[in-house]
Amino acid sequence: MTTPNKLNNLSGFLKEIYEAGKINKVLNYDLSNEFKIGNKILGKDLAFIAGPCSVENKEMIISSAKAVKLAGCDALRAGAYKPCTYPVNKDVDGWKEGMREKGLDLLKIAKEESGLEIVSEVMNPSQLELCHDSIDIIQVGTRNFQNYSLLDELSLQEKPVILKRGTWATLEEILGALERLLNGKLKKVAICLRGVIGAPPYRHIFKSSRWQPDLMMIQAIKEVCDIPVIYDPSHATGKRSFVKGIAISAVICGADGLIIEAHPNPPKSISDPDQAISFSELEGIVNKSFNARSIYLSN
Ligand code: PEP
Ligand code: MN
Repeated sequence: MTTPNKLNNLSGFLKEIYEAGKINKVLNYDLSNEFKIGNKILGKDLAFIAGPCSVENKEMIISSAKAVKLAGCDALRAGAYKPCTYPVNKDVDGWKEGMREKGLDLLKIAKEESGLEIVSEVMNPSQLELCHDSIDIIQVGTRNFQNYSLLDELSLQEKPVILKRGTWATLEEILGALERLLNGKLKKVAICLRGVIGAPPYRHIFKSSRWQPDLMMIQAIKEVCDIPVIYDPSHATGKRSFVKGIAISAVICGADGLIIEAHPNPPKSISDPDQAISFSELEGIVNKSFNARSIYLSN
C-alpha cells in the first residue's frame, strides 16, 4: 500500500487531481496483489524480461527463450504484432509487421520449451482473445499508451499488463493512463519507461539514438506511488553499446525491473537491429544489476 508519507509528498496539480478522486487507485496501488514475473514479485524483487524485438521463426525464438533463461532472466519478451514506424508492405518469410498469429503460436512453443512466461504486445482489443494461451503478461506499446478503447478493455480482464510510456507522456498522463487500467478488474499493472521525445544532440553521429532516456521519471513515479516501474534501456538508447550503462543506471534510480532486447545475431534482427545485444552481454547486465539494486536500496 502507498505509505501516508508518499501521499504527503503530493503538491500542486497532483494533489488537486488526487483530492478530486481522479488518480486514487494508482496512488494507492496495492503491492499485496503480487504481480509476479516468474518467481519474482514486482516491486519487491528485481525482475528481468528479455528477448528479441520480434518473433522471427521457430528455431530462433526457441533458442532465444533458452538463452534468455540461461542469462538469468525471468520472462521472454518478443513481439508477434509489431507496430513499425513506417508501414512495412513487404512480406519477408511470413514476417509482416510481425509474424502475427503464427508468432503467437511460436511464443506458445517457446514457453513450453523454456518454462518462461511470455510478455508480448497486444495492439487492439480484437487481439486479446487470440493471445489467451500464448501471452502471460500483456504489453501495451508506446503507440497505444493513450489508446483508451484498448486500456478500457484491458481493465476488464485480469491478465497482468505492462504499459509502455508514450514518448510524449508527462507524469500526469502516466498516472491517468494507469488509473484507467486499474478502473475495473485488472489489479496487476506496471509502467515501463523508455526513451522520450527530445533531440539528443549526438543523434547526427549515432543515428539510431532517437530518444532521451529520462531516468528521472523513475524517481518521480517512485516519489508519488508504489506502482512497479520497469525500465527499457533498449528503446531508451537505440544503440547497443549504450544499453548496459543506461540499464544499470535505471536500477540505481529505483527501477523494479528491466526489459532488454537481445538477439542470437543482433545486427541481423528483423526489427530494431541497432539496439539488440547478445545473450552474453545480457547476462553481464543481469549480474551487475544486483549490485546496482543494492546501491539503490542503501539510499
Ligand atoms: C517494443 O517493445 O519492441 C516496442 C515496439 O517498443 P515501444 O512500444 O516502446 O516502441
Ligand atoms: Mn523493439
